[in-house]
Amino acid sequence: MSLASGHPYLAIPGPSVVPDAVLRAMHRAAPNIYEGDLIGMTAGLLPDLCRVARTDHHVAIYIANGHGAWEAALANTVAPGDAVLALATGRFGHGWAEMAGRLGAVVEMMDFGKQSPADPARIEAALRADTGHRIKAVLATHVDTSTGILSDIKAVRAAMDAAGHPALLMADCIASLACDRFEMDAWGVDVAVAASQKGLMTPPGLGFVFFNDRAAAVRTGLDRVSPYWDWTLRADPEIYYQYFCGTAPTHHLYGLRAALDLIHAEGIEAVWARHDTLARAIWAAAEVWGEAGALRLNVADPAHRSRAVTSLSLPAPKATELRKWVEANAGVTLGIGLGMADAADPAWHGYFRIGHMGHVNAHMVLGMLGAIEAGLAALDIAHQAGGVSAAARVIGAA
Ligand SMILES: *Cc1c(COP(=O)(O)O)cnc(C)c1O
Repeated sequence: MSLASGHPYLAIPGPSVVPDAVLRAMHRAAPNIYEGDLIGMTAGLLPDLCRVARTDHHVAIYIANGHGAWEAALANTVAPGDAVLALATGRFGHGWAEMAGRLGAVVEMMDFGKQSPADPARIEAALRADTGHRIKAVLATHVDTSTGILSDIKAVRAAMDAAGHPALLMADCIASLACDRFEMDAWGVDVAVAASQKGLMTPPGLGFVFFNDRAAAVRTGLDRVSPYWDWTLRADPEIYYQYFCGTAPTHHLYGLRAALDLIHAEGIEAVWARHDTLARAIWAAAEVWGEAGALRLNVADPAHRSRAVTSLSLPAPKATELRKWVEANAGVTLGIGLGMADAADPAWHGYFRIGHMGHVNAHMVLGMLGAIEAGLAALDIAHQAGGVSAAARVIGAA
């Protein structure tokens, strides 16, 4: 007997569940890229993406994953020899910083550890100390997918303003966009980076860089920008092929169109509210389970937790055993721990993550939590029963 037969739930923090409407939109014959539907459809994606990021400015689309979007953002803003202040709240903050270094930037690293958000006071102090304004950009991760930490990007901007520092504020929103509230213009973000396969519910393959006029002016001032990553024509093409510096990612664009239609039909505020309630249900379950056992949420303060991804721990190797159990017995695939311990270290088997981004609703989350509670019992992992009931009360009260 297998209780895993039936509809699977890939509950890893990206790629996320792809809605049937997105799959259907992609299931079509190859379209003409020189004339016809695709041309106007592509033009309409840009303003609709900007609505999701809450910006009235610009967006460039790349055939790329998140790493490609990271590189695109840096290529347009940072020249070799420029300094950047890189904030890390987990593995992904370090990854973006390493990329900046390899592109020739002088990286000043500010590491907040694996359990705390970016601290605006430390950022302000570092920027005040940079009296010569050597630092050209502050790289911030809105949600670090390895730790599940949510940083307050508006507070980072306030710290930069308090220091009177002119650096660009660049935010990695790859995990958070369309999950955690993000207000690019209102929060004073100059560049925001995202990708298709998380809150945007489209298969991996599209990267997005949102930028305002301040960032565009920095781009204009650079001596040389890699032609492929240059955002100028992508955001404002004269000829269709310039959107993508070559052949368009045809099927992905149809998928993205369907995903944006879902987001705008629900309303971005409602999308954020759904993610908030579902995340609180997950936290409630984990807190109950942890009352009589060692299961822990990585981030203690709910104000600093993401609504897209939750990072948890159990005594090693129980986290790996639990992941394997729920996949084999309930059809739910949980995420591995990332960046919390070295993969060769036995401690690695003490971490796991839940992806709850994008096309996820109450019954999926309750089912996923029920599978985890069944796994905890089946594997004899010490826990307080009743986590699922606690989650159900959160959902019932919403
Ligand atoms: C997923 C993710 C990335 C990397 O994206 P890829 O598509 O794997 O290259 C970077 N930053 C954050 C915050 C992410 O969640």
